[in-house]
Amino acid sequence: MSVSCESCTSPRVTRISITMTEGDVVDFTSCHRCEHKTYATGGRPLPLERVMSMAGRKK
Ligand SMILES: [Zn+2]
Repeated sequence: MSVSCESCTSPRVTRISITMTEGDVVDFTSCHRCEHKTYATGGRPLPLERVMSMAGRKK
């Protein structure tokens, strides 16, 4: 599966999967050309504020 930037459509992106503290897996995509960053979970876009709340969640 090829990945391209949602902003500039460049294929030069890095995609990594991040496992959050409670097991949620977030796909993080970063563009090398325009530095646009996106987050998604389960194939759906994830707003940055959700990512932050997940990352900052305390046990
Ligand atoms: Zn881009």
